[in-house]
Amino acid sequence: MAVPKKKTSKSRRNMRRSHHALKASAYNECTNCGELKRPHHVCGSCGHYDGREVTQAAAATAAA
Ligand SMILES: [Zn+2]
Repeated sequence: MAVPKKKTSKSRRNMRRSHHALKASAYNECTNCGELKRPHHVCGSCGHYDGREVTQAAAATAAA
């Protein structure tokens, strides 16, 4: 097993961890219903993607 020759300093360890922060995930408004949805994903509330309905959402099924 490979073993490090020197102890990693607090500075080096913290520099490595400087990239570990979590980012908030991106959200856009749906162009059809205005609900927040993730980019490049089908809208969860109306089932639209790229200006047309691609799936029947739960709300649409109940209304029809
Ligand atoms: Zn929508």
